[in-house]
Amino acid sequence: MTKAIYGGPVFEMARQQFKRVADHLEILEMERDRLLYPKRAIAVSCPIHRDDGRTEVFQGYRVQHHLTLGPTKGGTRFSQVDIGEVAALAIWMSWKCALAGLPYGGAKGGITVDPYALSPRQLEALSRRYMQEMIPFVGPHTDVMAPDMGTNEQVMAWFMDTYSMYQGQTINEIVTGKPISAGGTLGRREATGRGVSYLVARALDHLGISAGSATAIIQGFGNVGSVTAYSLAEKGVKIIGVSDHTAAYYDPTGLNIADLQRHMAKRGQLAGFSTQSFAEPSELLVQKCDVLVPAAVERVITGENASQLKCRILAEGANGPTTPEADSVLQQRRDEIFVLPDILCNARGVIVSYFEWVQDLQRLFWEETEVFDRLYRILERSFQQTIACAKRDRISHRMAAMAIGVSVVQSAKRTRGLFPWCSKRATLIEPECHRLAIAAVSQIRENRQAQPERINV
Ligand code: GLU
Repeated sequence: MTKAIYGGPVFEMARQQFKRVADHLEILEMERDRLLYPKRAIAVSCPIHRDDGRTEVFQGYRVQHHLTLGPTKGGTRFSQVDIGEVAALAIWMSWKCALAGLPYGGAKGGITVDPYALSPRQLEALSRRYMQEMIPFVGPHTDVMAPDMGTNEQVMAWFMDTYSMYQGQTINEIVTGKPISAGGTLGRREATGRGVSYLVARALDHLGISAGSATAIIQGFGNVGSVTAYSLAEKGVKIIGVSDHTAAYYDPTGLNIADLQRHMAKRGQLAGFSTQSFAEPSELLVQKCDVLVPAAVERVITGENASQLKCRILAEGANGPTTPEADSVLQQRRDEIFVLPDILCNARGVIVSYFEWVQDLQRLFWEETEVFDRLYRILERSFQQTIACAKRDRISHRMAAMAIGVSVVQSAKRTRGLFPWCSKRATLIEPECHRLAIAAVSQIRENRQAQPERINV
């Protein structure tokens, strides 16, 4: 690729991670750009009326990484995003979907805005205008949106309604993460957090630590962080630290989860929870605990603080919380810290999104038990595949999870070939193509069908 439009630290991180994996998998140089760079990037300006009658324009994006396995899939973020960050998040979605065996490429979208500075009317206007601008580029079989940072079920309902009004019929399957009353699935809201705690329980088990004796610190108290905290507490884990963008609290004797829940229901943010157990947010990450869950933004575990972490398990609830520099440190500390990498650890959101999309397409809705049963099967399989691959190839869990995801996409691209046909294909001769096609089919089949040996929910 001569000159790509993507840049910035988050995109650079996704690029570096991909390079490490591509080197490990010995992917040919000529295939790398095709795997890494997004298929499409859309930038739109979204004008809305402010409450005082002024007009203001917000910048919106959508990046669709690849369309090789099916439609693209991913959240929409209302925060201070730029195109490089959105592209990186779309790329991570691709590896995440492929690791879970979902028939999707990755996508991500966003508007550069502080959603908390908008009135409810402005938030609705901006959400609807963004979706209206995206109509030519999305569709239930092209690109399916979902919530992410700064968006929620209500925003998804507005997206779905706007798209449907333009089509003249209700099309629930255009977005996932909707309220149940608008075609959402049972279990979606809790999915990401409960999935993190499922994998944390598996990792504790793997290390021989009982949940009842374990402690956890959670950074970020939005949908992922809060549900993770409550569901870890249900398993008997003592929550000793929590933080969000408004405050951080730490108490080595354990925070009162019922009080936390009541406070969050009333205030919607952590500030004001306690006058006693204040902590410095950056210090919270390096306190001693069994489980550290970064569940907020990217790049919080860095080359500087990775050597100071005092956890046994690093469970990445956020997308991209650990930089490649930190990864190098964690690789040296692999006997001390068990990493649950983001594309494995926070995949439940998109897995249950996939279930929602399937139910919407079929107009056939499942019981919650069916949702969770299928979810835990996929998680268990991905967990076991990742651990086994890391052990076999003596690589980190992140490298293993990404290697599985990247290989699935690479195999599918090779099998489908490059359109249009070129008679001078330099390196792939016929028998080689045939071999790769067979490998691709068996890899995808293995990813979809492998039966997990144990599920301890
Ligand atoms: N935003 C979530 C994620 O980053 C969910 C995406 C989806 O459900 O499509 O995984």
